[in-house]
Amino acid sequence: MDDPARLRIPFPCQHDGCLRAAAIVEVSRRGQLYINDEQDIIYRVFPDAQGTIRIIGFLPYTSFASQVPDLAATILAVQSIDAAALYALDRTWIPFYCPDCDRSFCEDHWNLKPIFDWGFDHYSGTCPVGHPHFIDHC
Ligand SMILES: [Zn+2]
Ligand SMILES: [Zn+2]
Repeated sequence: MDDPARLRIPFPCQHDGCLRAAAIVEVSRRGQLYINDEQDIIYRVFPDAQGTIRIIGFLPYTSFASQVPDLAATILAVQSIDAAALYALDRTWIPFYCPDCDRSFCEDHWNLKPIFDWGFDHYSGTCPVGHPHFIDHC
């Protein structure tokens, strides 16, 4: 299996006619040379984590990293740009994906508003078709 230290794959927006990327999905394998503070905390809290996953270039406040318990399955889903498979692994990983549409959308096509409670708390709104969507900061 191809097991790079860090994988970055753009997921295209699937709104008709949109040429933008919905977001870039980054998967980092544990044990790579450079880890940031966020990854350091994740590895302390989740000693069994095999790596981390992060969303780049979607909405502000959604680029937090999450622990990856099964790196092989995660890398396979990201390399095949299979948002449904990623969503099945963990439904909090890819906030740009609408499971009801089975499509990914860029931030221009979501109708989402950030809700603040002292700091950022969550996004709430709908996908382009009107399915309700909620993105929590975990
Ligand atoms: Zn939808
Ligand atoms: Zn778009």
